[in-house]
Amino acid sequence: MTPARPSPKARVLPLAGEVITLDPGHDGGNAARPDIINSLVNVITGQKACDTVGAETDAGYPEHAFNFDVAARLARLLRRDGAKVVPTRSADNGVGPCITQRAAIGNLAHANAAISIHADGGPAGGSGFEVIEPGLVPGYTDKIVGPSRRLGLDIRNAYRAITGEPYSDYIGVSGLDVRTDLGGLNLSTVPKVFIECANMRNSADAAKLTSAAFRQQVAVALAAGFVAFLHKR
Ligand code: ZN
Repeated sequence: MTPARPSPKARVLPLAGEVITLDPGHDGGNAARPDIINSLVNVITGQKACDTVGAETDAGYPEHAFNFDVAARLARLLRRDGAKVVPTRSADNGVGPCITQRAAIGNLAHANAAISIHADGGPAGGSGFEVIEPGLVPGYTDKIVGPSRRLGLDIRNAYRAITGEPYSDYIGVSGLDVRTDLGGLNLSTVPKVFIECANMRNSADAAKLTSAAFRQQVAVALAAGFVAFLHKR
């Protein structure tokens, strides 16, 4: 007798019921609209530009395109695992949104976890990745510092193991950093981290970032980090 195969719908998906906000940094139309993206917004610990153009490799592969492609790949994996994914932008040819709005989107969604996806424009001689966690901004980040720290550790560990990318050798400590100057973290009410996936200005890192196979590995790693974090709550 052939055992009945379980129906896919009957299976409990690993991220069923979870809401995850994905924030691909920058946007493809930013460079053409300095009038919009250079306007200042309040990030609690200071004033910052609404948004920025982002980095690019020496060959001209832009960070906004990398961030958007990784977010799209990651969204597919998370949705396949049952999560509701709320992105901060749904195209790569727009302007913004402002960093304050990017945080607000995750807050309004009551996301269980959120990530801002970036690639750094660091010194050409430096390489590696880092995860950035919110520091304590009294009255703002009090409730998210602890869970964001745990999210950051799970993301860092999965990223290191699955992509093989080393910890940054020019910023942070053991692939981790804590900052209080980022609006996307200061204004978040949900557990959130940033990741700088590698250094676009380093030739070896740039070769990886330009590879679709590597970007898929990045997405797989980030998805694994979310699963690890959300299953421990
Ligand atoms: Zn960036």
